[in-house]
Amino acid sequence: MYHHRNVGGQTIALPAGKVVCVGRNYLDHINELHNAVPEQPLLFIKPSTSLCDFAGEILIPSGQGECHNEIEIAVLIKDTFNKSSPLMAMDAIWGYGLALDLTLREVQNQLKASGHPWERAKAFDGSCPVSAFVPASQINDVQNIDFQLKVKGQPRQSGNTGAMIFPIAELLAEISQHFTLQAGDIVLTGTPKGVAALQAGDRLSASLNDVMTCTARVEHG
Ligand code: ZN
Repeated sequence: MYHHRNVGGQTIALPAGKVVCVGRNYLDHINELHNAVPEQPLLFIKPSTSLCDFAGEILIPSGQGECHNEIEIAVLIKDTFNKSSPLMAMDAIWGYGLALDLTLREVQNQLKASGHPWERAKAFDGSCPVSAFVPASQINDVQNIDFQLKVKGQPRQSGNTGAMIFPIAELLAEISQHFTLQAGDIVLTGTPKGVAALQAGDRLSASLNDVMTCTARVEHG
């Protein structure tokens, strides 16, 4: 069963909550999928049952078309809050990690075309592999975090949080106007360009600044 963990491998004493995600927060990714630039953050939620470890084996669904990587900075919430200011929201952060917002792209495109919700494409069991978390105190500037995903040793996605359309403080404040963020919830902050299909047997490695790396292998579930 999934538990939040720190970079030392110890369990963090917070429950595994919901995952609030933002779509289209990096311009280069908006352009690669030919989407429109949003005027307000495009929000969706993955349930706690989507969480699994970004370690060992990551299982992707079979027979549902392409499953895409979306590497994202994950924010772990330590204190419950709602209707918060950007400044107050930052005080409620335990730390930062990496997550994959796994996406069944063909399923999502079909759902989008018929105007239906995306959950079948993005909220399935195991759709949110999450790394260990680095304490907030170890990140000097949250809007200057470098992160990268390599697939089979080749760089596939590289980002810096400075390129976000909605920065983390604003994003958390906006989310909290609509959804109470509870201790143990995670916020995913959007993916840079480079989304593509994962294959069984792919070796993944991901890094956050020079403070955290994680690795996993993709297999069919
Ligand atoms: Zn995403």
